Order: sequence, then structure tokens, then C-alpha cells
Amino acid sequence: MTEAHSHQQPSAPRPPKQEQLLATEQIDEIAPGVLRTQLPIDMPGLGHVNMYVLEDDRGVTVVDPGLATAANYKAITHRLGLVGVPLKRVHSIVVTHSHPDHYGGAYWLQKETGSEIITSARFRMFWDPTEAPDIDIEDAADIPVQRRPWDATPWGGPGYEIPWQRKMRYAVARRVPGLIKTPQPTVRLGDSEHIRFARREWIALHTPGHTDDHLCLFDPEHGLMLCGDHVLPTITPHISGLIGARDPLKKFFHSLDKVAEFGSQVTTALPAHGNPFTDLAGRARAIKEHHEGRLQKLRAAAAELDRPATVMEMSTHLFSPRALGGMADSETFAHLEHLRIAGEFIRIEHTDRFEYALVD
Ligand SMILES: [Zn+2]
Ligand SMILES: [Zn+2]
Repeated sequence: MTEAHSHQQPSAPRPPKQEQLLATEQIDEIAPGVLRTQLPIDMPGLGHVNMYVLEDDRGVTVVDPGLATAANYKAITHRLGLVGVPLKRVHSIVVTHSHPDHYGGAYWLQKETGSEIITSARFRMFWDPTEAPDIDIEDAADIPVQRRPWDATPWGGPGYEIPWQRKMRYAVARRVPGLIKTPQPTVRLGDSEHIRFARREWIALHTPGHTDDHLCLFDPEHGLMLCGDHVLPTITPHISGLIGARDPLKKFFHSLDKVAEFGSQVTTALPAHGNPFTDLAGRARAIKEHHEGRLQKLRAAAAELDRPATVMEMSTHLFSPRALGGMADSETFAHLEHLRIAGEFIRIEHTDRFEYALVD
């Protein structure tokens, strides 16, 4: 346990973060023809996913239509009903990235409506064995990943699953219809490619980090940015060491800089969880500082230890005892690899685990 955590009072109630609030039936008009609705989801730390509904002459585009559950399909239909849109008016579905609270409803919705499914060109299901992993040339060397984390982790920690991965595996094993049906994108956008819907022109921005296939869409004329999970208002998205990139944290930093550069042109950022917000550049900077703080903690911990340490041990310097486990280790691993690639740390490869230490 670290000093800071020992002072925390676990029983003191903390107000829930806006991303944790349960979905309501509230409809917010963010801009003319741009509506925010909320769909219920049941995931750790998240109470809802925002399904934005964007109108034009052809009907509506929806963004991130929630989970693949019958209850969610009902919620989608109900929310559209509240804004006076019959299901058949949906002509396009944007999926910001390959997490089930974002793509889950897309397969069903497309089947009901025949709509387009718009994703990043890099969209890929993490378990899809038929597709080769999408890896940059610069990442091709030295990738300790492409193993299923529930079997083993490259750093030698216990295998782990993000809770939704477990649900997904059960579903695959039991062949639950609907859940294993993953959406097939019909429009795969390249970085900086343009697309028109909702009476405006959008610029696709590839923003790898949280996942390797994350997509933001920027409307320069009206200053809107659909930012998915890339930039959230009060929580930081999970950065996994296992997205198939050599340095996922570097990619995430680069993607934060990328959206921050548009910051002065963005009047409203539309996140996938929590409330729309104005200062996109400021929020992107704050998230970057949060991770730089973690890098600093790792440097300080390694200096004090003055010996090689495992990822699991280093995790205890970043996370509270309650938060420790595979997901925390994965994030610590991403930070340690970032420091190693930057030349600050060395990685010692034992047969069953990695250890890290400061470069002398
Ligand atoms: Zn996500
Ligand atoms: Zn999400």
C-alpha cells in the first residue's frame, strides 16, 4: 500500500462521476439536429452510453448504439420514439471503436433498417481469428502481444479478463444469437477522410490508444467533435498494454495532441459517456498530464526500489489495492514499455516474467 492510499477513507461516500450515472430518458439538443440520448449499460464504472441521434433529409444517423441485448434494442427503439423517429428512418450507424458498449447494438439495428455501418478503416474485433492483427510497420518488431490475455500475459502476470470479455466468451461458447453477431462495417474511413451526414461534412480522425481502431469525427463548420471514449469528461479511458501496438501510450499521447490541435475550433465535444463539454484541448491536456504523472511515479518508485521489479509490483505504486489486478497490470505494462522504448528503463526477460529497472 502506498502512503497516499493509506490516508483514504474507503467508507466516505464519493459523489458518482457523470460517466457512472444511470441512463435517463432525457433528450438534450446539443446543436440543431444533434440530439443526445442515453442507453443503459451494465459495465464497471459506467452507467450509460450516449447514443447521439443526428438528423438530415434522409433520416437519422445514430452513434454508438449500446450493447447487444434485447433490453438495449428496446431502449434504442424507445429513445428514437421519444424524439419522434421511427426505427426505419435510421440510415447510418457510427461505431467509434470495437468495444461492446459501442458496437453491440449495431448488428441488430442494421438488420432492422439496412443502414450503413461507419467505422475507422482499422476497425477489428479483438478476438476475430480470421483477420490478421492490424499492426503498423513501425510496430512490427518487438511486439510482446497477440496472446489472449486470459491465457497468459506477456509480462508474466496472471491471465485476466475485462469483465465484458468474459461475458463475450460465454456468449461465444453458448452461441447466444445476437451477441456473437458482430457488425460488418460498410464504410471504413481512412484518417482525414471526409464523410457527409446530418447536413454537415465530417472529417475522420484516427485516434488509436484506448483501442487501436478508435475513430473521432470532427465537424469543422459547426465546431462539433464526436470523440467516443478517446476523451471523456471526468474519467480517463483504460490504456491497455495489449492493443497490438509497440507503444500504445505513445499512440494515445499522439492522438490526444491530434484532437487538442483542433481544440480552438471545437465548441462542443460529444463524448460516449458523460456530458458534452467545451474545453476539448484542456481536457486532452489534463488526461495527458495524468499519464505523465503515472510515468513520474514509476520513475520514482524504481529509483527508490533500486532493483528490478515485476509489472505486478510496479502496479502497486500506481493503483489502489482495490483497483489492482489484470487491467491495472495491463495499464502499468503500457507505461513501463513506454519508458523502456524511451530509453529510460530496461526490460529483463525471465522465462516466466518481465522485470523492469531504471537504466543506470
Ligand atoms: Zn471503450
Ligand atoms: Zn465506452
